[in-house]
Amino acid sequence: MPGVYVAYPFCAQKCVFCNFASGVWPRALEARYREALAAEIRAHRWEWQPETVYLGGGTPSNMDVDGLAALLALVPGRPWIEATIEAAPGGITAERARAWAAAGIDRVSLGVQSFVDLEIRRTGRKHTAQTVVGEIGTLRAAGIVNCNIDLIAGLSGQNEASWRESLDWIERLAPEHVSVYMLEVDEDSRLGREMLRGGTRYGAAETPSGDQTADFYEIAVERLAAMGIPRYEISNFARPGHESRHNLKYWRLEPYVGFGADAHSFDGCVRRENPESIEAYLASAPGRSTRACLAEERFFVGLRLTAGIRPEADEWRRFERPIRRFLDAGLLETSDGSLRLTNRGVLLSNEVFQEFLL
Ligand code: SF4
Repeated sequence: MPGVYVAYPFCAQKCVFCNFASGVWPRALEARYREALAAEIRAHRWEWQPETVYLGGGTPSNMDVDGLAALLALVPGRPWIEATIEAAPGGITAERARAWAAAGIDRVSLGVQSFVDLEIRRTGRKHTAQTVVGEIGTLRAAGIVNCNIDLIAGLSGQNEASWRESLDWIERLAPEHVSVYMLEVDEDSRLGREMLRGGTRYGAAETPSGDQTADFYEIAVERLAAMGIPRYEISNFARPGHESRHNLKYWRLEPYVGFGADAHSFDGCVRRENPESIEAYLASAPGRSTRACLAEERFFVGLRLTAGIRPEADEWRRFERPIRRFLDAGLLETSDGSLRLTNRGVLLSNEVFQEFLL
């Protein structure tokens, strides 16, 4: 069954590493955006009942709760098997958590990124570790017990001891799901521009090297597995049974429909993108559609999963050369007809994936 993605690109601040099409915009624009979003959802012809909903951003947790409930009321299929809202720590009150639960939300993804004060400040965020502890408690008290915590490896000022401190907090809080992203500094972010010009703002000169960041990631893989939260996708870790049902659709090439600026949809054959900027979206500018190439996507999307993929006989033949090369190099492994990345292959996954582009 397909999923629904709703994009809400409004944030309280622009984090220094962020290159998403999100930001701080006037309140009036937010109201207009919400109307356009509701109109787009209302106009959609549902040919199926969605089973998952994902409110991403941006920071959809900042949306006023009545507006959020009104938007979700437009989406059929409730109760969904999973309905997630992305949240920035610092704004979750008991009333808000109860209102989310009443609107059908049963999973919260918290963009914590780090539990270490220096690292948090340098990203532009304002929360503390205690903020997160309090808010996870608030969510659980409201009945939302399925929580994800995002961490970023490679933040400015991070070292092995501070990274282990963030992982210690994960152990104490015992969330059901953790996402660990290796920071890829992008020239479209403030941090990226500062690093390119050799500046020192945002701690740009103290950003860990790529090798250090990879080491932090590997420490996380080991620590999280020991906590009973194994990796099931390159950046995602979950207690068994708590893998994100919505996000699995992306990696399994299952259909989903996206609403809002820069939202993507996939019907099993065609990929569609809404206009990226809020202005273009509000002006109803046309999006883009492209026919998906499932033969190659099956490899470079499916191989992200720890379980890997089960290539068909013709796929083994078509990709025989790269598969053989990466098996010999220890980046891929096979067992019982499955093909998957090794631990080393995960760290070099972009190089592996490129070889499966037709
Ligand atoms: S990282 Fe998240 S909260 Fe920060 S600016 Fe980007 S979308 Fe907004």
